[in-house]
Amino acid sequence: MSRVYDTIIIGSGPAGLTAGIYGKRAQLDVLIIEKSPMSGGQIINTYEVDNYPGMPGVTGFDLASQFREHCDKLGVPFVEGEVIRADLDIPIKKVWLDDESCYEAKSIIIAGGAINRKLRIPGEIELSGKGVSYCATCDGAFFRNQEVVVVGGGDVAVEDAIFLARGCKKVYLVHRRDSLRAAKTLVAQLNALENVEIIWDSIVEKIEGKDFVESAVLKNLKTMEARQLNVQAVFVAVGTIPNTEIYGESLQLNDSGYIIAGEDCATNLDGVFAAGDIRTKHLKQIITAAADGANSITTVEHYLNKI
Ligand SMILES: Cc1cc2nc3c(=O)[nH]c(=O)nc-3n(C[C@H](O)[C@H](O)[C@H](O)COP(=O)(O)OP(=O)(O)OC[C@H]3O[C@@H](n4cnc5c(N)ncnc54)[C@H](O)[C@@H]3O)c2cc1C
Repeated sequence: MSRVYDTIIIGSGPAGLTAGIYGKRAQLDVLIIEKSPMSGGQIINTYEVDNYPGMPGVTGFDLASQFREHCDKLGVPFVEGEVIRADLDIPIKKVWLDDESCYEAKSIIIAGGAINRKLRIPGEIELSGKGVSYCATCDGAFFRNQEVVVVGGGDVAVEDAIFLARGCKKVYLVHRRDSLRAAKTLVAQLNALENVEIIWDSIVEKIEGKDFVESAVLKNLKTMEARQLNVQAVFVAVGTIPNTEIYGESLQLNDSGYIIAGEDCATNLDGVFAAGDIRTKHLKQIITAAADGANSITTVEHYLNKI
């Protein structure tokens, strides 16, 4: 008979690693499955994390390594492989990896995270972490009194522009259409700010700079005119893509593909939990992902006690 774990955690970013720590300390039979050779998720490539309490200026790599070492010290088992299929709406859940192996568990914590939608323009990848950012909350403080661009027209882009305007000298909000999709209250707040300029009907075509961002080259989609902005950062806020495509139709997702779950991380399926950036939530950060990792284990314990 194959081994049936108490819980299998899919993904070893901050949410999955914290779930591993809490799960092991709660004496659950846990297993973490991670597709990358390194744990840490999105933070591995983050040069500086300046908002994780008690660790100012830690590199993403070091923080991820410390989370993973904590798991290793407690003896949390890991398997490297990509979950490509999951049967979740049955009492003993099954997950299959890309090497065709299958693992079983009484519960599953999905902590597969999300990826930021990219602009796919020259300079974006080369200058990522050197002025190109996908997270104003994380990196905005590095550009105090400087000039920055925000790309996008939804709630996140407008919230980012408002947030950045508090510390930056000037914020250009570049949007491809002639009106914003963001909530009216946010747009009203934005319009009241003197150091924000909205550039309509325009896209960023190129980001330039030798070692760090020095300028953004825009194109007006109506007039085809080019404009160069001398800025020190480009914040891309054109959406995120959650890693939920493999979970089938039984698991409830919102319109953007995020797993619908609250702070207890419970989904619509018995014994299936969602932690971190992959679930519906307001603020997607390391600390909130880690909090989900902890909360999800508490909910798993309640679930296991009643089945
Ligand atoms: C450039 C950048 C900078 C950031 N800076 C900060 C910052 O300074 N401070 C801050 O608080 N937050 C920051 N964030 C946000 C933070 O990184 C995320 O909120 C956090 O990593 C989310 O953790 P998570 O565990 O939910 O998901 P992730 O970090 O996305 O981890 C998910 C993990 O699951 C794995 N996985 C996915 N699907 C599968 C599968 N099918 N099978 C197996 N494994 C799978 C992935 O490989 C990954 O390791 C930043 C994000 C980015 C992109």
